[in-house]
Amino acid sequence: MVSRVIPVQAFDLVIFGGTGDLAQRKILPALYRRHCAGQLPDTARIIGAARAELSRRDYQSLVRAALQAGDISAGKDAAGGQVDSFLARINYLAIDATEAEGWQTLAQTLGRPTADRVRVFYFSVGPALFAPLAEQIWAHDLADDQTRIVVEKPFGHDLASAKALNRTLASHFDESQIYRIDHYLGKETVQNLMAIRFGNMLFEPLWNSQYVDHIQVTVAETVGVEGRASYYDKSGAMRDMVQNHLMQLLCLIAMEPPAKFDPDAVRDEKLKVIRALEPVEPHHIVRGQYALAQEGAGGDEDQSYRETVGDPRSSTESYVALKAHISNWRWAGTPFYLRTGKRLVARSSVINVFFKDAPHSIFGADAGRHANLLTIRLQPDEGITLKVTIKEPGPGGMRLIDVPLDMSFAQALGADIDDAPDAYERLITDVIRGNQTLFMRGDEVEAAWAWTDPIIAGWTSRGDVPKPYDSGSTGPGDADLLMRRDQRDWQGINP
Ligand code: NAP
Repeated sequence: MVSRVIPVQAFDLVIFGGTGDLAQRKILPALYRRHCAGQLPDTARIIGAARAELSRRDYQSLVRAALQAGDISAGKDAAGGQVDSFLARINYLAIDATEAEGWQTLAQTLGRPTADRVRVFYFSVGPALFAPLAEQIWAHDLADDQTRIVVEKPFGHDLASAKALNRTLASHFDESQIYRIDHYLGKETVQNLMAIRFGNMLFEPLWNSQYVDHIQVTVAETVGVEGRASYYDKSGAMRDMVQNHLMQLLCLIAMEPPAKFDPDAVRDEKLKVIRALEPVEPHHIVRGQYALAQEGAGGDEDQSYRETVGDPRSSTESYVALKAHISNWRWAGTPFYLRTGKRLVARSSVINVFFKDAPHSIFGADAGRHANLLTIRLQPDEGITLKVTIKEPGPGGMRLIDVPLDMSFAQALGADIDDAPDAYERLITDVIRGNQTLFMRGDEVEAAWAWTDPIIAGWTSRGDVPKPYDSGSTGPGDADLLMRRDQRDWQGINP
């Protein structure tokens, strides 16, 4: 199978925070891979910007090192000379988002906006700089109505700050120019979730509370908060993961079919899901914070959460598990269990859709209970599995077993999947193309905060302290109890 690569139009991309971790690990390698795929026109220019006084050559060396630390060592430079031709596109300007200097040079470098050249400003800086950057771009007349801005997470700290940021951005840019990035939406399998739901006749008729028993969304990480401690301790898993990534996955699972795969049609449906979420009962949510690993458990025993953040009394959660309900005709009575945590036993992002048992078993009680399970794996090993019930082969009567109908993308699509764009590649090309379908709209973000804020306020008013859990475990025992009270178990973290 040969994937089609359609070049994007000419563009200038300014990466504010061009020397930062995200630029080095994700944005620049993503652009490099699209360069190697032949998707970037010769005239495309990339300009890194940050406060550090670097020459163009210094910055090119930094980019080269970033690519080397990434995947070019794994053979991505097969054509030879690709790195040099990529670096030839790269420029650098020293600019402080909060100072007046440097902006005139950027204006001269970019020239006047023209209709045949897309202009993108990527805000890969700390969130406190999002509003100042928007204001500087506007004050220095760097944008026209075709210009796009890409805003990283976190988008606000709560509803009030998200509204304030939306207001500031909206005073300089139209909503159609604002790309709030959530890289989970750029993942191949997440888009496949929509393809599976709306491209097949098989699933959609069953996709409701009559046939679905419950749904689990797990985003488990093995890493702790190292390197992000000061940001994370003010944020926590609810703000850092649930309010954005898990909510976005929930929306795509639960939304009604949009009339077409069009940015506003999709985002209208996602918004309806968030607005239909019921407030979460305090006993339907578990917070956890990682402690040291059990001796011999094989986990990272270096530091507990509190040691890493340097606060022995920190009550920030590194784990959340909750049961959510969507009050609408389709999902009334079907619980959605969401959980995410750091320093867990395995890295795994997975959605499990548990269908109900058949209403009557013609095979008798001995055949046991069997129900279909649709598993959508986001990472690792992106793919989809449907567990179906069949007869166990051989003589001995009608014994039933569950077998997976498995579609690992790597197996099904062979080498092509290795060349499939990763989330940042896809999302950046979508920005250049002007396609907002996989980006969050301002009202979605606000609605997500409106649901999240009371949960966090409840913890604060009750003086809630997260439950400790061992590093390298599956999380706090109370999260298992949350499920067992409903006669269910978590699935989705396999070491
Ligand atoms: P980082 O490593 O701390 O980099 C910050 C960048 O901003 C640096 O290039 C820094 O360079 C520049 N900067 C700081 N102050 C500036 C100013 N006043 N004017 C202009 N540039 C300034 O941060 P990061 O991890 O790359 O994260 C960037 C953004 O992406 C954050 O909003 C973060 O939440 C988000 N994000 C990051 C990740 C990730 O994996 N890293 C994942 C998702 C989202 P100078 O100090 O030289 O100015």
